[in-house]
Amino acid sequence: MKFAKLLQQILQEDGVPPEWVEKAIQYKALKKRINRVVEELENVGLKRENMSFTYEIEQIQHQLRPQLTTDVSQELEQVVISRLNDMDYSFSVVQKEGDGSVLTVSLHEDTLFFQTLYEELEELKRFGEEQEHELVNTVENLATVIGKVGSPNTRKNDMYVWREIFQMYIESEVFFSTRERSSGRVDVAVSRKRLSDFVAHVNETKVLKRLRQRNSLAAFATFKEMNFLIIKVANYQAINSMAVQKILKKFDKQTTLNSLKLFPDVVKKSFEANILNSTVYKDVCAVIGERLLSIVPQLDDYTCPICCTVAFKPIRLDCGHLFCVRCLVKLQRKEEDKCPLCRQQVVLHADERNLDVAQMAYLKLYFPQEVKQKQREDEKEIFKEQYGHIVDPDKPTCTIV
Ligand SMILES: [Zn+2]
Ligand SMILES: [Zn+2]
Repeated sequence: MKFAKLLQQILQEDGVPPEWVEKAIQYKALKKRINRVVEELENVGLKRENMSFTYEIEQIQHQLRPQLTTDVSQELEQVVISRLNDMDYSFSVVQKEGDGSVLTVSLHEDTLFFQTLYEELEELKRFGEEQEHELVNTVENLATVIGKVGSPNTRKNDMYVWREIFQMYIESEVFFSTRERSSGRVDVAVSRKRLSDFVAHVNETKVLKRLRQRNSLAAFATFKEMNFLIIKVANYQAINSMAVQKILKKFDKQTTLNSLKLFPDVVKKSFEANILNSTVYKDVCAVIGERLLSIVPQLDDYTCPICCTVAFKPIRLDCGHLFCVRCLVKLQRKEEDKCPLCRQQVVLHADERNLDVAQMAYLKLYFPQEVKQKQREDEKEIFKEQYGHIVDPDKPTCTIV
């Protein structure tokens, strides 16, 4: 399939709004411009056969000025110079020792082609920034709403449900992989599939039915839509940069000029960013991580590295590492002085002064269920230690025979 058609099809299939289509790289129109450059080369007598060009693109503020340099024979020189003069081109000719000279010229159609492409990219960059800005705004708004409905200080809050939702979302690795060998940004199609799977998973677990706050359900809908929009924007950016690559390749093939090596660098320098590389994943996802997912802390970040349950009551050793009091007491009983994480000798002299009071209050607030459960287990364990040889706390104390 021709790329122009493929481009149109992709934009259509993705349900891209008309405004986006308008702002996309105008591949078809640019293709026509290439034909005009070819015609122009012929008109001025610089036919592409058996000629080799050196090509440069100079930039003065927002104006691009491509220049080509080539050796011309004495015979050709007369023809070319008279045509260039007739058609009002600016050029320079330097006589070479011996036969012929070196001609440097800026062609009109050539200039127009690159100027058009450049301005389309400029527009696209502005549009991309707008889209990212809107997405970031959505994240901020969601952060405010979920910050409220998911706050432990709100009565009948949805903290646990949001934690579950975000946990599923993080595990889905919609935009970035950490598990696979090829870790890093994932392909647009993969992202879309993973996002759909995440939504299906949320629905299967019926977790949304447990939401109690009125704004929570709407916030989830917005969260879902926003993620699909990120994928759409990323896809749109990727398609456009593909279109630029394709059009430059086509240009080079038809004109024998060498733009594919030059133009991306000009763009990069000029925009002070590689806009031919989609940035929306990186930028917006960073904001989602920092502003949204962190609102509801995840248990994984607050577990004791030994027993893997919530680190309550948290003992912070002098080395800075933190363990639950039960695990620490067990270490001390074994007279183990080395911190299991960094091997510093800090365990034995730890006492109640090492209790991290602020962290304890935090855990009580954000993980009340886990903390209660842990306390029950601790009590059971202590009971077992004291009376374990007489009774088992898990079994009824009297049995009827
Ligand atoms: Zn522990
Ligand atoms: Zn340590």
